Amino acid sequence: MSASMTAVFRTGLPATGALTLQRCGRCRHVNYPPRELCGHCLADDLQWQPVADGGVVQSLTRLSYSLEPAYAEHLPWAIASIRLDCGPIALAHLAPGIACHARVALRAIQDRAGNRMLLATGIDTEAQRLLAGWLQSVGFKEIQA
Ligand SMILES: [Zn+2]
Repeated sequence: MSASMTAVFRTGLPATGALTLQRCGRCRHVNYPPRELCGHCLADDLQWQPVADGGVVQSLTRLSYSLEPAYAEHLPWAIASIRLDCGPIALAHLAPGIACHARVALRAIQDRAGNRMLLATGIDTEAQRLLAGWLQSVGFKEIQA
């Protein structure tokens, strides 16, 4: 397995700001997290392709304790499961003010230690306006395409 594929398996995200997931060349199923065979038809013809970044919050929880100082400074910290419009369910950090069943957009972000992860944020203009300030306040940055 190549080093870049190892990183993808570790983080679930390629090194790009666009939401890029594996789509099966045989059945068109979108696979997430990354895998070597399609989870629907077991074909090995998986291609990284940009997908729509929209989804809906299915469930969420708020962490009230963390051993990671970067998170401990900002508790409670919300994490959610997101049903992506393209099919899979993804776990993502959740921007402030997002409730269960809300429509969200997923962004690839990077924490202070360089770990890549998904962030679900609101889709309205106000949520987008507040996003950059919130990311800066917690020490995260958006990964640019
Ligand atoms: Zn398939």
